[in-house]
Amino acid sequence: MRRRPEAGRKPHVMEEIAPGVFVTTSPMYLTTTTIVVGAGGGCLVIDPALSVAELASLGEWLTSRGLRPAVGWATHPHWDHVLWGRALGTSAPRYATAAAVASTARTREEMITQAEAEAPGHDAELLGRLEPVPGAGDHIPWDGPRAQVIAHDGHAPGHAAIWLPGAGILVAADMVSDVEIPLLDLASPDPFGGYQAGLDLLASLPGVRLVVPGHGHVGDAAELSARVAMDFGYLDAAGTGQDMTDPRLLGADAAWLRAEHARHLALARDRL
Ligand SMILES: [Zn+2]
Repeated sequence: MRRRPEAGRKPHVMEEIAPGVFVTTSPMYLTTTTIVVGAGGGCLVIDPALSVAELASLGEWLTSRGLRPAVGWATHPHWDHVLWGRALGTSAPRYATAAAVASTARTREEMITQAEAEAPGHDAELLGRLEPVPGAGDHIPWDGPRAQVIAHDGHAPGHAAIWLPGAGILVAADMVSDVEIPLLDLASPDPFGGYQAGLDLLASLPGVRLVVPGHGHVGDAAELSARVAMDFGYLDAAGTGQDMTDPRLLGADAAWLRAEHARHLALARDRL
């Protein structure tokens, strides 16, 4: 389980990474929130995070700019990606893939407990209140820039990146992070293979200019390639039970990542 210091009290810093696309990063786990501005001030709000104070401040920031949530997107069924606050209103539909919605229904109580332990005070009633994205499921139907759903398993059931082809921005959620190793869904039938398939999907998108990981720093196309290579390197080694030096495992606050890494190795060695 992750353990990091409590979030600071600094006000939100919103970075406009492309016209109408904003990213804010929490000091907790470097968790990102992405806002895409659509017609009439309606916004696509992806993974609003992380503390109660930060969600309140996000709501204030939107209001101060004449913006409002039009639709929410939860990239995957982990507690830090299915949060919501009253400051964001309760009228916007909150979508995820059908598989992520089903998984959330199974684990919602557990996620509420995790949220309370790590970022206390969230409105449990609003946590994980998701519905399957309507239509074919391959894009978010909303009055704004095209937002394609790139769904795959690997990190979590129904994990889905959002691809904004107009801006060339990949909101990758818990993949291709500069601060976290690949974190596998150990309950899935093929943890390493599933993750590799997801990574293949992201690596095959044409024209990515910027990548926004769920935890970590925004990167350009070269950075994305480097992270994809590093992640494949990790999976190749760990998947065959070999320990390796990955810079993301070395940080002073990376003990929880080293524990996950040990679990990955144990799984791989069990299967050899
Ligand atoms: Zn996650």
